[in-house]
Amino acid sequence: DSSQKIGAYEVLGDPIAAGGLGRVYKVRSAEGKICAAKVLAKEFLKDRKKKERFCSEYHILSRLHSPRIVKAVDLVQERGLCSIILEYVDGVELTQLLKAAPFPEEVALHLVMEISLAFQECHKHQLFHRDLKPENILISTKGQVKLIDFGVAKDQEISRTLQGTVLGTLEYMAPEQIERTSHEVDQRADLYALGVLTYEMLSRRL
Ligand code: ADP
Ligand code: MG
Repeated sequence: DSSQKIGAYEVLGDPIAAGGLGRVYKVRSAEGKICAAKVLAKEFLKDRKKKERFCSEYHILSRLHSPRIVKAVDLVQERGLCSIILEYVDGVELTQLLKAAPFPEEVALHLVMEISLAFQECHKHQLFHRDLKPENILISTKGQVKLIDFGVAKDQEISRTLQGTVLGTLEYMAPEQIERTSHEVDQRADLYALGVLTYEMLSRRL
């Protein structure tokens, strides 16, 4: 339905992505600005904990200020709807670039530098991404690197439930993030994931 709305935002077409907690749409604000809307799936609206966790991504992003981290624009909370409005990144996931050979070393090093700087901003605020992987890195058509997906929903608890089903994402997780007994998941887990990603970019395998 082309006349669909998310708060004051007009939905532009079909979802651009569908994930664990919801979908991502391209939208247009009343002022005509193109944004991305991350919408919590209806089935989770009544789950207060899930909803809080979902909204926490907005609050986390609001504290971060870096050209390398996607910007939070708005939080839409209405009856029957919960959505985070983000700066729209016109580009591709790093996943897609990694599939298309070749992937020069200089590009890999540039990406490591950009992600390091994004992490510097996060870690300065004691915020830990905890889910670095190629899907959560966007490369804009202008060549900008943008770190996305600060879903605290992807915390230890959720990671564990994924253990049996989505094995791919486990590859980037530091051991303490997977272990049931661990309470401490901090910046070191992000650096571990960056190490795995660096290896992947240089060797083209995990
Ligand atoms: P999930 O928790 O479902 O992984 P993400 O925040 O990673 O949620 O979003 C899923 C996908 O949607 C991303 O991998 C990316 O392709 C797309 N996406 C997310 N945010 C944006 C954005 N701000 N601009 C453009 N595309 C985005
Ligand atoms: Mg993601």
